[in-house]
Amino acid sequence: MRLRCRRVVLPDGERAASVEVHDGRIWSIGPYGDPGSDEDDLGDLVLMPGLVDTHVHVNEPGRTEWEGFATATRAAAAGGVTTIIDMPLNSLPPTVSVPALSAKRAAAAGQCHVEVGFWGGAVPGSLRDLPALHEAGVFGFKCFLIDSGVPEFPPLSPAELDTALSTVDALFLVHAEDPQTVRPAPPSPRYRDFVASRPPKAEVRAVRTALDAARRTGARIHILHLSAAEALPVLARAKDEGVRVTAETCPHYLAFSEEEVPDGATSFKCCPPIRDEANRDALWQGLHDGVLDCVVSDHSPCTAELKRGDFASAWGGIASVQLGLPVVWTAARTRSVPLHRLVTWMARRPAELAGLVHKGRIEVGADADLVAFDPDAQWVVDPAALHHRNPVTPYAGRTLRGAVRSTWLRGVPVSGSDPQGRLLSR
Ligand SMILES: [Zn+2]
Repeated sequence: MRLRCRRVVLPDGERAASVEVHDGRIWSIGPYGDPGSDEDDLGDLVLMPGLVDTHVHVNEPGRTEWEGFATATRAAAAGGVTTIIDMPLNSLPPTVSVPALSAKRAAAAGQCHVEVGFWGGAVPGSLRDLPALHEAGVFGFKCFLIDSGVPEFPPLSPAELDTALSTVDALFLVHAEDPQTVRPAPPSPRYRDFVASRPPKAEVRAVRTALDAARRTGARIHILHLSAAEALPVLARAKDEGVRVTAETCPHYLAFSEEEVPDGATSFKCCPPIRDEANRDALWQGLHDGVLDCVVSDHSPCTAELKRGDFASAWGGIASVQLGLPVVWTAARTRSVPLHRLVTWMARRPAELAGLVHKGRIEVGADADLVAFDPDAQWVVDPAALHHRNPVTPYAGRTLRGAVRSTWLRGVPVSGSDPQGRLLSR
């Protein structure tokens, strides 16, 4: 297969090129004008690498009514995401042992429309299992410093975090909110009451806790779903010092501000919460400055029933694996951020985070996971047209710019009927 395109997003920027694919890999990248007979010209579309979303909660087995591999990966492919790494919690069992990983892999087998890898979980009772689980192929370990929302995935104390980081030489992903600072959410329909219960200080303190543990142990850590811009200078200093830390934020923190969340709109509930407009601007600056490395979805669905109620009782999580690219692009356009920067944050860096050196880039030898994207398309989000299992989304009715027109997995168009995704191991 050969694709010609006037706008190919390459590691060093965007240019006209022709991309030749053989055996699922990128074979050569030549000038746009190269002659050839079987070429497919993409016209005004942009050819970019498939996105790598390292923060997806699939929930199967055990809570498959929330989300399963077939629906999550169909949604991913439709949204231009060609690799997901599944989070270890909200499925039953959680992925905290080798048998639990086997259960996950068995549940996923034959159902995946994109490539799927797995994070392991570090919980107080699983620390001895971490080396074997790492050996079995998980890409690293997620842990919480605060209640996770499900009883089978308890948080680590700071001492347990040190133990975990010293037990295995692996990447640790940290949900950084401080349990002493977060207060119970009041049973209120007002969004600002919920936000006030999880102030920026809670994130700053937990980020410091995680950084201190990384300093003491020399381990590599990654801060998940950063919402509070107040933590950015703390992270920047740690990076300057040489602490091995990276950080991500999510589309909802870059697209929404606290001021625009209507009262009672629990579809917007997530932890940490969406903050104010100045905070949102500062997160964009954090990406620009390289303090934030990645933008990934934190796709965390549940049933429509569990998303009802008030901000205390509703499940916290936003399902957006299909929407991340157009959501971030819509916001980026108004800030004059070029598309190739998004590709760095949403494809290349997440791939690097997981050590997937053949993903997230259009480069000779890389997997031909590709997306044809129409950056100028304009459309309105209809929840019923999304592929994830439960059609609840805070993006309902929003006008977005940019649409995925085709997705290729290792050179083969993703059809939606014939699952070709592999299960990846570290
Ligand atoms: Zn999550």
